Amino acid sequence: MILVLAGGVGGAKLASGLAAALAPGELVIAVNTGDDFEHLGLHISPDLDTIMYTLAGIANPDTGWGQADETWNFMASLGKLGGETWFNLGDRDLATSVLRSHLLSRQSLSTVTAEFCRRLGIVHPIVPMSDQPVRTIVDSDEGELNFQDYFVRRRCRPKVRGLRFEGAEAARPSPGLEAALAAPDLAAIVICPSNPLLSVAPMLALPGMREAIGAADVPVVAVSPIIAGQAVKGPAAKLMGELRMPVSCVGVAEWYGDLLTGFVIDASDAALAGEMDAKVLVTPILMRCDADRLRLACEVVDFAALLGRNG
Ligand code: GDP
Ligand code: CA
Repeated sequence: MILVLAGGVGGAKLASGLAAALAPGELVIAVNTGDDFEHLGLHISPDLDTIMYTLAGIANPDTGWGQADETWNFMASLGKLGGETWFNLGDRDLATSVLRSHLLSRQSLSTVTAEFCRRLGIVHPIVPMSDQPVRTIVDSDEGELNFQDYFVRRRCRPKVRGLRFEGAEAARPSPGLEAALAAPDLAAIVICPSNPLLSVAPMLALPGMREAIGAADVPVVAVSPIIAGQAVKGPAAKLMGELRMPVSCVGVAEWYGDLLTGFVIDASDAALAGEMDAKVLVTPILMRCDADRLRLACEVVDFAALLGRNG
């Protein structure tokens, strides 16, 4: 069994490849909830929804987030009434957040997520990283901002000075994540090409998480979200520069440090392979289509298996 750590759009691409490559029982996907927030009285879990919609085959192929064939009547009516419209919630997407919010009054986020996945026909378990609230707070040149204020409302424009994960100390890994980390058949942990600072860091901030990963004693393989010094999408490169990290796949590997057994970098970064402590796999890692996702997923699984045999 392979445990995957994923954020949203970048995470969903590799997670969907792994879901296609592996049989039920061979994959558990743990998802960042540091981006979750309360908005219009709703509990919104952007990364869980992105992973869920992608694996269900109903994600919007153009944006990577939200649902395909979306309509926007709710947003239009909301605006007419003077409601806040900076966070886009399509009509289909809205149903997820409304029902989740309703069910959360008596069920955990893990339970609600499992039920949604069952209804959507997803065969691989998707688990939130935690059932307790963890909220990413961005310290910027405009002061402290809630994550969605920074990411969506201010479109990542503020210069970032630091990040903290409010609630992390009091949270714990969800039952599904905890069980996967301790599972006797756990063979590898794969860190998706998600934003390390915004999507993976909240998971690593959970108490006991790093220790549990170490105790699992399996290869930990990450795929770089940075290709040729640039993020494929989003603020990863801008953020790394603002936090004075080398803006390259080397900076990502250094940030993960000795957590990593293996690191997967793009063919265009082949010259940097020698600069990393982890074992490196060099291969095309830009996923433009389902075939790219499946091919990379299979290569990552084989690489992890090889590291497991040699370790
Ligand atoms: P978010 O939560 O929606 O922001 O998504 P993630 O944190 O999961 O992923 C964002 C990261 O995915 C960005 O840093 C991108 O550079 C990276 N990314 C997106 N598409 C690809 C891809 O096709 N290949 C690789 N290697 N990285 C990607
Ligand atoms: Ca996210």
